[in-house]
Amino acid sequence: MQKKITLRVLPSEAENDDALKSYIAASEGIASTRVSGYHILKRSIDARSRQIWINFTLRAFIDEPYLYRAKHELQLKDVSRAEKKIIIVGAGPAGLFAALHLIENGIQPVLLERGKDVRARRRDLALLNKEGIVNPESNYCFGEGGAGTYSDGKLYTRSNKRGDINRILNVFVQFGAEENILYDAHPHIGTNKLPQIITAMRHAITDSGGIFLFEKKVIDFITDRDIITGVKTSDNNIFKGDAVIVATGHSARDIFHLLHDKQIKIEAKSFALGVRIEHPQPLIDKIQYHQLTSHRAIYLPPASYSLVEQVNEHGVFSFCMCPGGIIAPAATNPGELVVNGWSPSKRNNPFANSGMVVNVEEKDIPAFRKYGTLAMMYFQQSIEQKAYNAGGGKFAAPAQRMVDFSEKKSSSSLPDCSYLPGVHASLLNEVLPTFIYQALGKGFKKFGEKMRGYYTNEAIVVATESRTSSPVRIPRDNISLTHPQIKNLYPCGEGAGYAGGIVSAAMDGENVARAIEAALLKI
Ligand SMILES: Cc1cc2nc3c(=O)[nH]c(=O)nc-3n(C[C@H](O)[C@H](O)[C@H](O)COP(=O)(O)OP(=O)(O)OC[C@H]3O[C@@H](n4cnc5c(N)ncnc54)[C@H](O)[C@@H]3O)c2cc1C
Repeated sequence: MQKKITLRVLPSEAENDDALKSYIAASEGIASTRVSGYHILKRSIDARSRQIWINFTLRAFIDEPYLYRAKHELQLKDVSRAEKKIIIVGAGPAGLFAALHLIENGIQPVLLERGKDVRARRRDLALLNKEGIVNPESNYCFGEGGAGTYSDGKLYTRSNKRGDINRILNVFVQFGAEENILYDAHPHIGTNKLPQIITAMRHAITDSGGIFLFEKKVIDFITDRDIITGVKTSDNNIFKGDAVIVATGHSARDIFHLLHDKQIKIEAKSFALGVRIEHPQPLIDKIQYHQLTSHRAIYLPPASYSLVEQVNEHGVFSFCMCPGGIIAPAATNPGELVVNGWSPSKRNNPFANSGMVVNVEEKDIPAFRKYGTLAMMYFQQSIEQKAYNAGGGKFAAPAQRMVDFSEKKSSSSLPDCSYLPGVHASLLNEVLPTFIYQALGKGFKKFGEKMRGYYTNEAIVVATESRTSSPVRIPRDNISLTHPQIKNLYPCGEGAGYAGGIVSAAMDGENVARAIEAALLKI
């Protein structure tokens, strides 16, 4: 018999197979020898009270042999001679998952990526971190796997209506991620493990006859009246296909300019902008696990948090929290400062960082109205430029202690910070627009009431977290997913405004592939 069982166990018992079997047996009133094994269906931490519990939902095998968890693997076809060929611009999660889905359905993808493969890209990241030099084609946002590769690899999303999250997680497992991402409430892969997974996906695509080309920056769309037939790359090559998927991410400003200049419809989109906060991880552990000291019990993972408040009619919220993480320079252009965060799979760095951002709508930035549909993008860029100048160059980031920030006081010294290009004490109210600065300052105090100890000068505020989502939307029809004006053009992923993270971008890639399959193969 197989039975679904829910359990609550102490953290020290959560990794102990025999203890879990005993709990299953006790909950059923049977001898533990009758339990041959179990699958974990869900695992989460309940840290609401001083006694911390690990909650499990399990499928137990009772009085019958244990069966290994069934593997759901993609069935990739040989598409090397496929009749239909789709151009995919951008090899981030959206582009990669679109490519894999097309291959499953016998269509050849041609992936064109402006950046480099994960290995070559690593060298450019080192140059950025150590020397403060950014390569505009190869950085934390551009290159194989897109912004997802050197990201944190947190795989949770609230977009569960947009597609099959489990299918996406299973694909990650097929290409090398650990099985625990299938059942953890907050699945996480880690920056150290993502590059191999992305490379394995590329190999699967090319082994099946898909085409995957690096350093192919798309600079033009080729159209025949209102139909897109292909693209042109910066090395003057033309690639033709039955359709074009544009999955270029939120940082491809040149693509937004191209669409704008060619009068292909785009829209300004609200997004969020703010700062990254970093606390010592032991402080966050102490607060979240209700400890008297900052020494975390060995069975517990580094603690995280999620905070949200409404301040001065603006939403202020934590974004992409990275326990045991690093603040990364995520700029794509010289002279513009952008920070983001990542953590390794073990989350074993001494700091806890999180984006802390404020919703920005068109009405908040009247001075940029003159830029029309690119208004939000120009606003974003202007703050990034201010931050770069305030940091003093070479991607040193302007920073301030948290209480000093809220009280508009300059910090005479700064605490240690994980951000490798370095931090420079600055008055961040001179960098951020007033409505953002004020909302953050009040927000920090309110967060300190929710999490006692959070509002402290031990925390550092680093500017600027500006690439939370796309400042532009490329419209598309709800059903066919094509651009309303240009046939066979498929806006996709975060850059087009249809995703906000790795999993949602991957699901959007699959949705777009499905729409193309329906149109081309009539399935
Ligand atoms: C440091 C960091 C940490 C993050 N952490 C997380 C996290 O933990 N969890 C999470 O869910 N999300 C995280 N994100 C966000 C996540 O990475 C993105 O939401 C996701 O990658 C978006 O996928 P995408 O495929 O739509 O676009 P992208 O991943 O942005 O991919 C777009 C690709 O298009 C390419 N491209 C752009 N222009 C052109 C052109 N003209 N020609 C050819 N190619 C082009 C780019 O080089 C890039 O590879 C993080 C991002 C960063 C930067």
